[in-house]
Amino acid sequence: MASGSEKFERLAALVAEVVNLRQASGILYWDQQTMMPKAGAEARGNQMATLDKLAHEKFTRPEIGQLLEDLRSHEASLPHDSDEASAIRVTRREYEKATKLPPDLVERLSRAANDGFGVWLQAREARDYQVFRPALERTYGLMREVADVLGYQDHPMDPLLDQSEPGMKVAEVETLFAELRETLVPLCQAIFAKVDAVDDRPLRQRFPHDQQMAASREAARIAGFDLETRGRLDLSVHPFTIGFSPNDVRITTKVDEDFLTTSFFASLHEAGHGNYGQGVPAKFQQSLLDDGPSAGLHESQSLLWENVVGRSRAFWEFYYPSLKRVFPAQFDGVSMESVYRAVNKVQPSFIRVDADEVTYNLHVMLRFELEKAVFDGKLALKDLDEAWNAKFKDYLGLTPPDDLAGVLQDIHWTGGFGAAFAGYTIGHVSCLQLYEKACRDIPGLEAGFARGEFAPLLGWMNRNIHAHGSKFTPQELLERATGRPLTAKPYLAYIRRKFGEIYGV
Ligand code: ZN
Repeated sequence: MASGSEKFERLAALVAEVVNLRQASGILYWDQQTMMPKAGAEARGNQMATLDKLAHEKFTRPEIGQLLEDLRSHEASLPHDSDEASAIRVTRREYEKATKLPPDLVERLSRAANDGFGVWLQAREARDYQVFRPALERTYGLMREVADVLGYQDHPMDPLLDQSEPGMKVAEVETLFAELRETLVPLCQAIFAKVDAVDDRPLRQRFPHDQQMAASREAARIAGFDLETRGRLDLSVHPFTIGFSPNDVRITTKVDEDFLTTSFFASLHEAGHGNYGQGVPAKFQQSLLDDGPSAGLHESQSLLWENVVGRSRAFWEFYYPSLKRVFPAQFDGVSMESVYRAVNKVQPSFIRVDADEVTYNLHVMLRFELEKAVFDGKLALKDLDEAWNAKFKDYLGLTPPDDLAGVLQDIHWTGGFGAAFAGYTIGHVSCLQLYEKACRDIPGLEAGFARGEFAPLLGWMNRNIHAHGSKFTPQELLERATGRPLTAKPYLAYIRRKFGEIYGV
């Protein structure tokens, strides 16, 4: 009879094949988004669907289920935080999720997502939510089915949230938003009253493409992302990061020649995701531990470099002279302080992805509350557009001019409904919780940015977050790194301090 170690070897070999197939599909996705001629879409869709199907079949084969069962006593004999016990635990969690949903439901979900995307595009064309509504009703129905199949105790959105934020509950997200709402809504109102106190015109000039790409590469390098031997930076319509091993992590950006911040901060943001990918130890390659444990924790790393570092005064003290050398005419006579203020301009805006650090989480909160009201039967999907506009007015003081600037803006609802957005806010909050601890552990950390010293911060994240791959749940990892569970306090203190100073509120 095979020993526990032998069975683990067998399990690891089977999982490695699944990971390889998924990554091969990932390479095709990267190529589709960056290089592929438009007309290649149909063939590419078929290629990716075949690989995904093979990966799913390989992962859900009964042999994996049997090995996971047989390995229970072996797992129990190992420390919880050992690599082997963690690999078994995480593989079992993923296996249970993958096998719980009947294939026919998986297929209906993927068809609904495909159709939903087409209908969403039509609705956007017509700027009319009611065109999209039937597709959303179908998606919502399927999400309820998924929730029932996966099972829950408290709220039907719990199992949906669990897919992107393992272990997180809707009730916890509600508590988090209640705390944010209390500070952010009045703070936004105070800032909106002084919106002209910050002028971002220095950033709204002509900045040629090639120079912007040079600045983007520089930004990624400053963040510590290895562009030379283990990474790439390319262009795509929607910036993203994808990794195939710590030695092959690819980030993308996009350029707006009339607005400097788009490419610069997208590059810093994706470099933060990329740092995560390059920072996960090579020993986790080809296992399910080979990435962060949740979307929210991944976002904590991108927001760290985009906002906490990239929009800090110390960063601009260091970086502004180099930027001025790339764009001497554009920044002639513009002070460092005015650029620092410009990159931190706060204003009410309709579109979530364009929102600043202060208003961003109100956009997320609004979506979460609407989704929850639908699941609770307090809001019908036919009234979602009106409910959106009413809440938007409450939180941001504006009424969207049409559904394109309102309820139709995000792609997320074309393929899912319920809990897809919370990860963004969890990302903001955990980012500042981690940063606060890093600052306590490394005296003078932020002051060092002004001298170009960013490696100590990356080193701290490497040791405390990246080194663990997805061995732990996001909550466990956050507690191990900071000594306490998820809390909004460091984030709120940071927002109050930074924007209180900029706006004098
Ligand atoms: Zn991101």
